[in-house]
Amino acid sequence: MEYSFELALCATLERETDWILARQLGAAVADPGQRVIDVVGVVPGPEFDARAEITAETIPAAAIEADVGVGRARRPETAFDCHPQRRESAVEAALDCGFFERERVDGHDAVRQTTRYPDDWVGELVGIENKPDLDRPGELARQLRIDASLALFDRVVLATASHVTRAHCNRLPDPVGVWEFDPETGERTVVRDPEQLPVDEPGIEPLGDASDHTEVAVVERREKRRRRRRVAERAYGKGWRPAQYPACAHCVPDDDGLPYCTAFERVVAPNEDCGEHCPRRDPADPPDLDPHRLRADRTPWVAEPSGTTRRQAGLDRFW
Ligand code: SF4
Repeated sequence: MEYSFELALCATLERETDWILARQLGAAVADPGQRVIDVVGVVPGPEFDARAEITAETIPAAAIEADVGVGRARRPETAFDCHPQRRESAVEAALDCGFFERERVDGHDAVRQTTRYPDDWVGELVGIENKPDLDRPGELARQLRIDASLALFDRVVLATASHVTRAHCNRLPDPVGVWEFDPETGERTVVRDPEQLPVDEPGIEPLGDASDHTEVAVVERREKRRRRRRVAERAYGKGWRPAQYPACAHCVPDDDGLPYCTAFERVVAPNEDCGEHCPRRDPADPPDLDPHRLRADRTPWVAEPSGTTRRQAGLDRFW
């Protein structure tokens, strides 16, 4: 239920806003594995178009953070402060997506940025936790406590299909907003607006509950800025629709690209529900749907940007 709820909410937000939406992203800093948020909305900032022009994919964090600029080519060995394997994969990915270009300097491979990284492309980050049924809250309290205390997102919202009572609201951290959402009709009701969180201040990340106290880590501004940029980059490259649709005659995606199954009469999770283990599977070509085209038509994300790579000097002679 949570999967179809989540996809339906993303489809509604895509229609109602100009946000870049993605699902299931890491949202902690000191202990990155402890918090995965259901939906992230990136609100475009003033330099959004400059970011979109570079690549449709995620620009690797290590490439953005390396001491490589536009003006002078640098050898990766001196410009990156990370494990050589991570450095190599970041350089390759940055070259592939057109954020870096390669040069030879003094007989060595060197790289430079094809353009300045536009730091101001993110206006706000909105974090949304889905809990369709509030009678089964699971880890909700702990998750929202982390979000409110760490303040990685500008705003945090709980989205639910349940009727929200005053008692429910009282159990949530004050800054967390609440939406009631009907995944069948796409109707979204704002029960409580989220408050702006102090994203530019150091955050406190709860790490776990011992019997008599909660361990915490202080997350400095710089670390938070880096994580916010990583989340935004990941969201930009990832999106929210399934990466692959099942090769089954029963999969008939709806107008929003949700993978609807006619055999089970519901939206299915291709990675979990579909495959040879499914008793109703009817092998066929995957549905004729281009999720990238849908995304490009409905959001400011650019599927095929012109790119910022300059023509290589050596090739110019032949033009
Ligand atoms: S594999 Fe099963 S769940 Fe998936 S679309 Fe086909 S019938 Fe539906």
